[in-house]
Amino acid sequence: MEKTWEQLQEYQPLVIKTVENSLKKDRVAHAYLFEGSRGTGKKEVGFLLAKSLFCQHPNGHKPCNECTNCRRISSGNHPDVHIIEPDGLSIKKWQIQALQEEFSKTGVESNRKVYLINHADKMTSNAANSLLKFLEEPSSQTVAILLTEQIHRMLNTILSRCQVLTFRPLAPKVIHDQLVAEGISSTIASLVSHTTNNIEEARELSEDAWFGQSRSIVIQLYEVMVTRPTHAFFFVQDQWLPHFKEKEQLSFGLDILLLIYKDLLYIQLGNEEKLIFHDQIASFKQHALQTSTRRVSDQIAAVLEAKRRLYTNMNPHLLMEQLVIKLQEGFKLV
Ligand SMILES: [Zn+2]
Repeated sequence: MEKTWEQLQEYQPLVIKTVENSLKKDRVAHAYLFEGSRGTGKKEVGFLLAKSLFCQHPNGHKPCNECTNCRRISSGNHPDVHIIEPDGLSIKKWQIQALQEEFSKTGVESNRKVYLINHADKMTSNAANSLLKFLEEPSSQTVAILLTEQIHRMLNTILSRCQVLTFRPLAPKVIHDQLVAEGISSTIASLVSHTTNNIEEARELSEDAWFGQSRSIVIQLYEVMVTRPTHAFFFVQDQWLPHFKEKEQLSFGLDILLLIYKDLLYIQLGNEEKLIFHDQIASFKQHALQTSTRRVSDQIAAVLEAKRRLYTNMNPHLLMEQLVIKLQEGFKLV
């Protein structure tokens, strides 16, 4: 989905500020390296920067997103904006050579040219060396934008020729607000935004029925442990284990459970603006009042310990039973 300047500003305030300043002062670098994990907006900012340089009706330095140039850049059809993606597992030398050849001609519509290399760390060493020569003789009108999720895999000689901009993981609130703006319920958005800081993954999860069921099963297990303790083993066997079948799924279930105990702790500490399970607040408040901060901290530790054991190949059934016993210890509610 197309992002506006303002949206990306919320995603990556520092990056956008830097880009904005260089545009305002007409000091756009010859080469940028955008680094950060997947889903942090690197490609979107790259496209936006390209649009700022080519837009026919910019508002200050912000592209209009509507003119022919903006639209051609969005669809990957602008003759002076080139995008290189890995060819299979790597970016090959011929791809960089083709780019150089293309760029040795004058611009089709102006002298300005922009190229964007996605997953730049996947360049073969031959490709990287070709690119290096290219970066060493920059034409004043050419802007290179390299994107990587793995900056440690980039050649130092390339790094030293780029202005490096770091894309931080998105804050939960940013993800939450974005999902709600896309029509996802706040209940789901609030949990999703605390299980991943990748907006694409967050979007996929929130549309996934399995995720919605996971949320409800974890809340039910918690409720059963508090209100019908003798029923908890049965619930694990009957509902929990059939739903969280794979190790990764079980680990995910435990992550959600952990967030419930964190909510209890936030209530006890008077930090209610941090709550994730807004729709459960009444019962969580009641439980939080009847237990101690110390006890909730122990429960958090017990869930973390279970997560650790999961990866020592412990039997999931046994693991969950032991966890339930620990979580119920000393937690006497009627
Ligand atoms: Zn435009």
